[in-house]
Amino acid sequence: MIPISERKRKAAKRGLKYHPLNNIFEGCSGHHINIKHVIYIPLDDHLIPHNAKTGENMKAINEIAFKYIWDNIDDVRVPLPDLVNIMRKVK
Ligand SMILES: [Zn+2]
Repeated sequence: MIPISERKRKAAKRGLKYHPLNNIFEGCSGHHINIKHVIYIPLDDHLIPHNAKTGENMKAINEIAFKYIWDNIDDVRVPLPDLVNIMRKVK
């Protein structure tokens, strides 16, 4: 599994921050719901081309990520009110 430090470094190269909202797991892929926050989702759910910086296709992929994190709420690593606030601000 790619270490978080490496994931952060790659994100920084793309001009993105890297704050994971849930726990990493084998076979996951880090999806940026915005330019700062990441939700780990199954790689198979992360196939729609999208761009967190331009907003391209973000609504569709974020819906998938939000459903995933909500269905796996025990793996959330931030306080739930914070998660709700972050999700509310995402388009
Ligand atoms: Zn993504």
